[in-house]
Amino acid sequence: MEFCFTAEELAKRAFSGPPLTREEILYLLRAGEEEAEILFKAADLVRAQVFGPVVHLRAIIEFSNFCRNNCLYCGLRRENRRLPRYRMSAREVVQAAEEAASQGFKTVVLQSGEDPCWTPERLAEVVKEVKKLGVAVTLSVGELAYEDYALLKEAGADRYLLRHETADPELFARLKPDTSLTKRRRCLEWLKELGYETGAGCMVGLPGQSLESLAEDVLFMRELQAEMAGIGPFIPHPDTPLGKASPGSPFLTLKVLALTRLCLPYANLPATTATGVAQKGGREAALLCGANVVMPDVTPHRYRLLYQLYPGKAQADPHPNAFAYWQERLQALGRTVGQDLGFSPRPRGAS
Ligand code: SAM
Ligand code: SF4
Repeated sequence: MEFCFTAEELAKRAFSGPPLTREEILYLLRAGEEEAEILFKAADLVRAQVFGPVVHLRAIIEFSNFCRNNCLYCGLRRENRRLPRYRMSAREVVQAAEEAASQGFKTVVLQSGEDPCWTPERLAEVVKEVKKLGVAVTLSVGELAYEDYALLKEAGADRYLLRHETADPELFARLKPDTSLTKRRRCLEWLKELGYETGAGCMVGLPGQSLESLAEDVLFMRELQAEMAGIGPFIPHPDTPLGKASPGSPFLTLKVLALTRLCLPYANLPATTATGVAQKGGREAALLCGANVVMPDVTPHRYRLLYQLYPGKAQADPHPNAFAYWQERLQALGRTVGQDLGFSPRPRGAS
């Protein structure tokens, strides 16, 4: 197809349409260096128009690496018997959240494998305690029943991250044998219905993933009107069935991120840790291609080494005061740290 565009034109379309078509998204996913620069600039313009220089820092606490699932790509999968397992106590989680809030974080993200011992009831008690710190709480604990999501919302949880991983139903079924894309989508719809700020997202460069299916990922997130989207490269973990697969391309990851910004101008988009692990300076690069959030790892060090989704993750945020460290790194980029809870500014009901 013929598709001529400037960064300003692309940015304008993000706000006043017409929305990018599937063919245009695919064209931009195929873009070489030169056209990609235009795409990146457009995404940065949109990000700047909505958020200005503000970047929100979210502290992530990975409180259990037990998982009942067997996702082919993930180091926490239940059949990875080489991984020593840990489960933080409720007291330890609240203490880690207190430490994060005292550093200045305004959002605490509680993430884990799908650990049956961390029942929704126990987690709800922790959410209530953490909410007393005056922070926003994001949960990322996988697929639950509607009632459980409702219970956690009632306890005060504000947001929920549940990446859809890939919008290709067959690839999804191959890589996540315990569930299906239909079930995942239903969970995301429930989360929206319950009033959570809802985060979808995908990995880029999964074995067997096509550019066409990445275009579907962007459309999936637009259709859902996700308030957050986590986009990162696939990084092979040696103790998984995909250990010998090739890693996802950082360049392609940035293109997916930039396209997501053009399709969801008001969404909070993190510069994901995987983007930083796959390429030195990757998180900064993402902040220049549409991202407006960073989620430093504040899990206590004795546990962090064991939350091995992929190699290199545990070393990504080595500084003891992650907030101060990122404040400085952001300053060097001409960005400032958000002082409020950092909800998506999209007016309710707007598309
Ligand atoms: N268990 C919950 C779930 O699956 O939704 C939340 C935690 S899960 C570890 C968080 C995310 O890690 C997943 O959504 C997936 O996209 C990402 N992840 C897992 N293994 C990865 C890998 N090898 N490379 C890149 N990202 C990975
Ligand atoms: Fe478990 Fe999530 Fe890893 Fe899948 S991606 S194995 S659900 S922790």
